[in-house]
Amino acid sequence: MTLRIGNGYDIHRLVAGRPLILGGVNIPYEFGLEGHSDADVLTHAIMDALLGALSLGDIGLYFPPGDPQWAGADSLKLLAQVHGMVQERGWRISNIDSVIVAEQPKLKPHIQAMRSRLAEVLTLAPDQVGVKATTNEALDAVGRQEGMAAYAVALLVKVG
Ligand code: MG
Repeated sequence: MTLRIGNGYDIHRLVAGRPLILGGVNIPYEFGLEGHSDADVLTHAIMDALLGALSLGDIGLYFPPGDPQWAGADSLKLLAQVHGMVQERGWRISNIDSVIVAEQPKLKPHIQAMRSRLAEVLTLAPDQVGVKATTNEALDAVGRQEGMAAYAVALLVKVG
């Protein structure tokens, strides 16, 4: 088998007094995501897509939320570790696609920065990393601005 596909999903609560970090980019906003690490919901979904493609479980297995080691962790560093696991097993990333679901703030001005940041960490070209954003049309918890969610898929190619 020379191709593997994985998908990932994550959701975090929005709270006051936390920075909003998405795809490693600090986004000015009055609320941020709550979590044990930096709560970068997009990066977490991408990590789960990469792990899922190789049936390696999920990020909770490698970076348990209760572990003080990961308190306030920079999720891009965790993403780099997951990428290392992919490479060690003889796979490379063909492309990633993702979508952030958030009512506020407007994420469009930050999309290119997120793609560049994620591509840099994964040693990919920005056109191998898709990041999109949509609202939830005011429906459900995300629509009530209680949180933000993210979905990602990753396609891996066997090296050699
Ligand atoms: Mg998470």
